[in-house]
Amino acid sequence: MVCPNCSEKMNLDVMDGQTILHCPNCGGTFFEENGINRISFATAQRLADEKKVYEISTSDKLCPKDQTILAPIRSEESVPPDVTLFGCSTCHGLFAYPNDLVIFKKAQAVKIDYFKIWSIPLPSIKSIAVLSVFLFVSLVSLITYLYWQKQNISSYIQAQDLIKNLYLTTSNRYLFISFKTLIPLRSRIIFTVTSTNETVNKVVSGELTTFHQLTTADVNIEDEIYYQIVLRDEKGRETRTEMKRIDFTKSQ
Ligand SMILES: [Zn+2]
Ligand SMILES: [Zn+2]
Repeated sequence: MVCPNCSEKMNLDVMDGQTILHCPNCGGTFFEENGINRISFATAQRLADEKKVYEISTSDKLCPKDQTILAPIRSEESVPPDVTLFGCSTCHGLFAYPNDLVIFKKAQAVKIDYFKIWSIPLPSIKSIAVLSVFLFVSLVSLITYLYWQKQNISSYIQAQDLIKNLYLTTSNRYLFISFKTLIPLRSRIIFTVTSTNETVNKVVSGELTTFHQLTTADVNIEDEIYYQIVLRDEKGRETRTEMKRIDFTKSQ
């Protein structure tokens, strides 16, 4: 079976109980259905390190098993914006470049930690895992998660009357925000970096919803950042919170 990226012969391996095809040349890995969710971060790191060349081909990528053309997976919820994963519509396998694999696994791990730490029910399994069928990451994670849910760490910042349970936290370069609204609303958030006076505008929920969440790496969390949440109802009427400084020391 040949690599979808560089056409070298792939090695068949079993890691974390998954059968994995790995390319020793470009470091690309092909996972069986849902396999990417089940491997550990350490395994992802090891797979990513095993390569000879840095090569990204732009031609069509074919599934090493059935030669179906692989398509980029667009899942804003579970896949960070700078990561591209390629899926096979026939066998539901998934191909990942070495760097993307590491970033994806890291983001997945910190996101699970975030929900654990804040005792927030997972909005959906799809927000953390790339799934073609309903299956949890692993039984161990599930048990750990349920254990954590019993802990009640209730520290939150109240922003405005419509918003409740606003949580802000960071992990590495990722900033996570979630909040609920009393009625279904669309939302966006405006970050202002005081040192550069630069603003970053991010859509949190493009659809009317009461649960809003955003994962972003677009603001440098080392900076002094202010944020303002903008809510919009179905008729397009907007309301904004006051600008507030993000104070991570408070939410830890
Ligand atoms: Zn390759
Ligand atoms: Zn396939």
